[in-house]
Amino acid sequence: MHRACGAEKAPGRRPGAARKPRETPCARQHGARRRRYDGDMENAAETTRAAPCGAPLPTRMARLAKEAFLETLWPTRCAVCDAPGEVLCGPCRQNLPYIDWWRACPRCGAPFGRVQCSECNAVMLQASGREAPPFAGAASAVAYQEGARRVVGAYKDQGERRLAETMATLMAPFVAPAWREGLQAVSFVPATAAACRRRGFDHAELIARGVAEELGLPCIGVFQRPHASDQRKLSRRERMANMRGRLSTLPGATLPRSLLVVDDVCTTGSTLFAAGDALRDAGVEDVFCLTFARTW
Ligand SMILES: [Zn+2]
Ligand SMILES: [Zn+2]
Repeated sequence: MHRACGAEKAPGRRPGAARKPRETPCARQHGARRRRYDGDMENAAETTRAAPCGAPLPTRMARLAKEAFLETLWPTRCAVCDAPGEVLCGPCRQNLPYIDWWRACPRCGAPFGRVQCSECNAVMLQASGREAPPFAGAASAVAYQEGARRVVGAYKDQGERRLAETMATLMAPFVAPAWREGLQAVSFVPATAAACRRRGFDHAELIARGVAEELGLPCIGVFQRPHASDQRKLSRRERMANMRGRLSTLPGATLPRSLLVVDDVCTTGSTLFAAGDALRDAGVEDVFCLTFARTW
């Protein structure tokens, strides 16, 4: 049993996690990193091939043997408390800073904005030269605080890509029933080519695929991959200006009438605004946005 969260080692888990570098000796760090990238590239290719369960029996057995071997070397650990067993243990999953859907702003997803929103009111929108958000609604599952930060960090920076499925499971209930009616597909804000190369996978795409599966909808790529742009030191207004026009739809793409756009973290909303602008310009009538976390 783990000291922090009391989690027991769960049987039957999916093996193959990258161990947290901060807790591993130097030699093992290099091993974890090497394995992480190998695994990512292999799994990234899997998304475009047949499902693993449809692979020939010897291939599946070889993969299971490999995963069991890797699990022995680098046991799966909780992204938040580091307890062995699952990528996100039960207590940590329960203690994430979930946003209360009933108190959140239905338009931009800000926590506590249901009655009067401090994030998408007329003054804030005017500051970014708008009268309304370019989407019909937005929601996030958790506030971007300690637990959520660790989950996103383990996913994006430590390459624990199995968290995509976990995050998708937590996000899907935040799709409002009103959005669900008529919703035709799920898409994602693509990562830059540099980020994809660095991680070995497109982080938003994996989450979107999981959300689409939860909702029983297709996941489609509709945006061209944006060029790299570091927004970390920009103010809210600068981010809005910087992102404006940076996303565009794929030429010749057949777009649905109603689309859910998925991303990992909403910081100022500038990326979602850019996505909404591009989709509205391309003729999508109803755009909804869903992120795992939201800064608050
Ligand atoms: Zn935990
Ligand atoms: Zn709002």
